[in-house]
Amino acid sequence: MPTDVVTMDKIVSLSKRRGFVFPSSEIYGGLGSSYDYGHYGVLLKNNIKNQWWRAMLQERDDIVALDSAIIQHPRTWEASGHLAGFTDPLVDCRTCKLRFREDHLAQSACGRKPSKHPGETPECDLTESRDFNLMFQTTVGPVQEEGSTVYLRPETAQGIFLNFKNYLQFSRKKPPFGIAQIGKSFRNEITTGNFIFRTREFEQMEMEFFVPPSEAEQWHQHWLAERMTWWTSLGLRPDHLQLRPHDADELSHYSSATSDVEYLFPIGWSELEGIANRGNFDLTQHAEFSGQKLEYVDTATGDRYVPHVIEPAAGVDRAMLAFLVDAYDEDEIEGEQRTVLRLHPILAPVKVAVLPLVRKDGQPELAREVYRDLRERVQAEYDEGGAIGRRYRRQDEIGTPWAVTIDHQSLEDRTVTLRDRDSLTQVRIAIEDLADEVENRLRHPWRSPKLD
Ligand code: ATP
Repeated sequence: MPTDVVTMDKIVSLSKRRGFVFPSSEIYGGLGSSYDYGHYGVLLKNNIKNQWWRAMLQERDDIVALDSAIIQHPRTWEASGHLAGFTDPLVDCRTCKLRFREDHLAQSACGRKPSKHPGETPECDLTESRDFNLMFQTTVGPVQEEGSTVYLRPETAQGIFLNFKNYLQFSRKKPPFGIAQIGKSFRNEITTGNFIFRTREFEQMEMEFFVPPSEAEQWHQHWLAERMTWWTSLGLRPDHLQLRPHDADELSHYSSATSDVEYLFPIGWSELEGIANRGNFDLTQHAEFSGQKLEYVDTATGDRYVPHVIEPAAGVDRAMLAFLVDAYDEDEIEGEQRTVLRLHPILAPVKVAVLPLVRKDGQPELAREVYRDLRERVQAEYDEGGAIGRRYRRQDEIGTPWAVTIDHQSLEDRTVTLRDRDSLTQVRIAIEDLADEVENRLRHPWRSPKLD
């Protein structure tokens, strides 16, 4: 296998150059680790989320969807344990005035001597660590008083537990069944960084799967396998993915077992998704704090129990970073260097580009006609500006799997060439067959050419 040429710097620069991700508030000097998603970033992120919804909702009949509020009743976070326990250990350096996570010192750089870690130089003067709550706090209503303090949710999961009762009533589901949600979460992380890997505002895809207590372990195993298959079926190279069970001292306050799906990013193996067995912690806590019964009653047998919960929780932004990293490649065509995103076609922001070879002789008119037909079926893009080679390169850089070229022959026999991003093969095909061909190709299983 050739060596992987990808680095985080190359991803950051391509993302900005090609309109995937911009540093936020740039005209004001930026706001550390806040990012805006540009046109192609939005398309890519939407495709990732759509594939997640597809796997959760369309391909199964035991999961239903939810979109809950970001600001919930503040008691939520007392019950969930976040108010007391969602903290990271914070240390300050009195010399360089920077703040660090005590458990991340080995990965952090000293403020004055970046080649050293904090605490490593004689001048470093670190405070004792203290717990720092990661929840963003704000107030509801015009008066800043005790009673109106609320929090931006640090995970989407709690909105699901708060709606458990509604779902038992309306959805006609009984355990085992799941509730899935995608939405923004907020964490006032002490140390952010590595581009969109760790930010303070991010998007999560979480599903809580409610099961009879005796089946919890079996369903945990089921979801570990399902989620690994999802990541690889969307093209992530299997040798860059691993499942890592948490050690006992790493487990969250609610979890009896968690395994992380980790991806080999340029920064090393890092978490993409956590798959936890949350037991009955959350429903029990919310039942106690709300005074409501949050249990399942089997009307046939009279059995009642508090379901246990298996939770696959993934980050959309981290997923996008992993797909970009996995897809990034460089090669040479006819002596010219090319950068190409070998994205799974189903994830590619644009599926097909339509390019007239020249901007005359009726080619643009026919190309626009082809483009109008294609965009009824898939995300397509029309481009007539500049040399054809440069237009191909541009599409390669945003990961467009196919390009249609209209040439002089097209005007005579209504055929076009269809170019493949990875193999670079070009086939001639009738315009009337084009949309079907693209849709057929989209349905094919796909394997990263970086594995060859
Ligand atoms: P980490 O150990 O990296 O802080 P975590 O274990 O706290 O993550 P979870 O609470 O399990 O994360 O959240 C589920 C998923 O949400 C993570 O696997 C990750 O993909 C995403 N996520 C969590 N925190 C962030 C963040 N600050 N920025 C971007 N994505 C995040």
